[in-house]
Amino acid sequence: MSGLEEKPLDKLADIIYGVRAQNLLDVWSAIRKKMDDEGFQAVKDAFETSKKRFLEGPFEDHLEVRWGMDLCPHCNDSNKETNGIAYPQPNGDGLEFNQCLNCRIGLLYTIRSAKATLDTYAIGLGDAGQFNGMTIFWDAIVPDEMDDLFPLYEVHEAGKWLGTLSFNDQMEPSFLPFEEMKDGVARGAKEPWTTDIPEGLQAAIDDFKKVAKDQIEVALAIR
Ligand SMILES: [Zn+2]
Repeated sequence: MSGLEEKPLDKLADIIYGVRAQNLLDVWSAIRKKMDDEGFQAVKDAFETSKKRFLEGPFEDHLEVRWGMDLCPHCNDSNKETNGIAYPQPNGDGLEFNQCLNCRIGLLYTIRSAKATLDTYAIGLGDAGQFNGMTIFWDAIVPDEMDDLFPLYEVHEAGKWLGTLSFNDQMEPSFLPFEEMKDGVARGAKEPWTTDIPEGLQAAIDDFKKVAKDQIEVALAIR
């Protein structure tokens, strides 16, 4: 911990985007402490500049690819898993969740006739299956049409993409179930979101809020 607290905010944000720590929640806790001293605007600025560096750096080659994720932008390995196609088109196109099992990042690509365009970059928090058997990812890069729902999180259980989660200022969740991401529904549509949270997911959220409170507070502050 002490090592992290000595690092400036922009370095800490770079660690988050680059997934360069064993436990990213420790990094978020270090950022949360700095937010008290330096203010949320300093944290927001650090994340914005770090995101820009990330997008214009090695990640640039991953914004538009053929078919979807091939090699992971971080570990350069192909140890990936595809977890469901949302908004499925009759021809099989749609929004595909590709996960690197080494780094536990998710790259969501919109696939249209073999051309895959990055929709969301999601970063795994905690261990796989840590939250009532579910895995939670923070959406670090998200489409603009969803910005009033920030912060957003993806939820997986046993290799299945369950849907997307959002927290409001009171840390109350709302949920976009995978099944509601249908053909013809706009990506940013509010109608399919619900505050009626399934029991198992509510237990996962309760676990997550205990362990990742610092992360949620920072993510709310910088949205
Ligand atoms: Zn990887």
